Amino acid sequence: MRILLVEDDALLGDAIQAGLRQAGHAVDWARDGVKAELALAAEDYAAVVLDLGLPRKDGLTLLGELRARGKTLPVLILTARDTVDDRIRGLDSGADDYLVKPFELSELQARLRALLRRASGTPAPLIEAAGISLDPATRRVTRNGQEIELSAREYALLHALLQHPGRALSRAQLEEQLYAWGEEIGSNAVEVFIHHLRRKLGSETIRTLRGIGYVIPKT
Ligand code: CA
Repeated sequence: MRILLVEDDALLGDAIQAGLRQAGHAVDWARDGVKAELALAAEDYAAVVLDLGLPRKDGLTLLGELRARGKTLPVLILTARDTVDDRIRGLDSGADDYLVKPFELSELQARLRALLRRASGTPAPLIEAAGISLDPATRRVTRNGQEIELSAREYALLHALLQHPGRALSRAQLEEQLYAWGEEIGSNAVEVFIHHLRRKLGSETIRTLRGIGYVIPKT
């Protein structure tokens, strides 16, 4: 999934970005509120991890404006102070969840998994379709009970397709899920990953719809 991280602290931002990448996400990192605003207008994110104390535009203002524009994507806020007021204002401004600094990276990842799960309408921790089962917590993938080893990009691509079985995703939509800012995209990268996935999961698992994109059938 493609995640926007908004954090002005370099050390913390670095750690969060690395952690989310390790979990298989493409992460864009904005270091102030205005850059975050531009990113949100330009890209389609699965979720936002939002620090509240930011240069140029604070997190609560950004969040309020985002919700006022009708954007419903999940937002997890990071608050520096453990004050009830901050958290209440954050939740009332449209945040879906919060973490108080300092926090464990593993907790951030777990909360994000829960938010993404709810947003995709699949409340069960396992994502299953077409005999494939994917566990976002452990990144374990099985097909008909057999464990399948996938690279980080293969996993991310499969995850994106499994979110909406029966719905085709275009190459451009898949590239958006796989690559963050500044990462070079090979011209046929998606085709190559699809090829690998078919080899590992069975050629009939992912269908090509000519001129439209790729789909995992519902059954
Ligand atoms: Ca800050």
